[in-house]
Amino acid sequence: MNSIAIIGSGPAGCYLADHLLRLLPDAAIDVLEKLPVPFGLIRYGVAPDHQSTKAVSRVFDRVLARDQVSFFGNVEVGRDVRLDELMSLYDAVVLATGAARDRRLGIPGEYLPGVVGSGAFVGWYNGHPHAQAVGVDDVRSAVIIGNGNVAIDVARILAKGPEEFAGSDVAGEFMAWLVAQPLETIHVVGRRGAAEAKFVDHELAELGTLQRARPVVSDPVGLTGDTPVVKTLRSFAESTPRDTPVTINFHFNLTPTAFVGDGKLQEVQFRSASGESVILPAQMAVTCIGYEALPCCSALPANGIFANQDGKVDERLYVVGWAKRGPTGTIPTNRVEAQQLAQRIAQETQSGDRPGGAGLRKLLQERNVRWVDYAGWQRIHAAELARTGAGRGREKLSSAEAMLETALGPEGQST
Ligand code: NAP
Repeated sequence: MNSIAIIGSGPAGCYLADHLLRLLPDAAIDVLEKLPVPFGLIRYGVAPDHQSTKAVSRVFDRVLARDQVSFFGNVEVGRDVRLDELMSLYDAVVLATGAARDRRLGIPGEYLPGVVGSGAFVGWYNGHPHAQAVGVDDVRSAVIIGNGNVAIDVARILAKGPEEFAGSDVAGEFMAWLVAQPLETIHVVGRRGAAEAKFVDHELAELGTLQRARPVVSDPVGLTGDTPVVKTLRSFAESTPRDTPVTINFHFNLTPTAFVGDGKLQEVQFRSASGESVILPAQMAVTCIGYEALPCCSALPANGIFANQDGKVDERLYVVGWAKRGPTGTIPTNRVEAQQLAQRIAQETQSGDRPGGAGLRKLLQERNVRWVDYAGWQRIHAAELARTGAGRGREKLSSAEAMLETALGPEGQST
């Protein structure tokens, strides 16, 4: 029997477990997760008002529920168990750790209060237990840097009024902050032209349907090209202006050069394609320029990913998802990639009679690590649903400690 450890329970890890089970029905697959709860980007990255995208977690839940799969939540590789220990316990180990760190622009003022990376901001509005509040108030103008789908998510979440979050699992603390901001203007700024924007056009078009805000193109004459995104932007520019409290202004061909402020952000400076300086006043800026992988114990990423050849890092060590290819593609991209890697692992993995999960449990018990198994996750899941009010999505537990107590009881005993 093969024993395989997958580090990370986001979409890449869960799709991989699913495909491995199809190819190796007798394998024992252990999914390790540093948070007490599974599903990574689905739970804490996908926008809270896009519940249909989040619904894939039901598929992943069924994978974790399978007899051959064991979930080890609250187990951090590098803190609770070393990677070399996992390599000796399992026949194969897979890094499915995602890309958890915000890329930086590397321009002056990036650490001013009011400037935040999209990973941190998205984690906050999704109720991530380690997320911190943005720390600024009286936000009238917000600048969003980047022309990808995360920039669209952030713009939409900032632009919505409270009633537009019906059915979402947006974090209560974030909502309390949002409704208190006198927000009037959201600037979405790309360093290249509209035709090069990485928006998915239907995500962009959704901004035209909001109640509290309307999209505006600051230079419609500059909208060249015929891509679906350019056509959508043109439709924004040509539509009859609605009277809304908030506008979402699209700017193109502006390269950010500095965040400026006295103790907190006051303006963002850009350079236009013709070399002119452009200044946008803002009390808050969110950089939506991509992510990079964090080290996983002794495995160190280079250029934001773990170096690999078609998913293979080393003998018996593999990588999948954003940790493999960088932060690109949509959720289904992971399904296709996981299928390919599962085939490779199934071909290459030989049973080495390694102890697998039994060995991991023993080691965690010796170290007094409190881990959350699938039954513990189900207790958290039930508690969150029980807390959820009418017209709301899941009311997530807000701290890792609360999750552990719910999963394990006051004694904190793992099974
Ligand atoms: P992305 O699509 O790669 O967009 C990143 C943006 O940041 C690009 O416009 C890029 O410009 C810009 N950028 C990078 N470095 C910059 C710099 N130094 N200065 C100024 N701008 C810079 O990444 P993302 O928006 O973070 O999304 C990550 C992945 O998740 C994508 O594959 C996305 O499609 C996916 N996603 C999908 C959905 C959905 O389907 N609903 C929602 C959210 C995210 P250049 O193009 O010039 O490099």
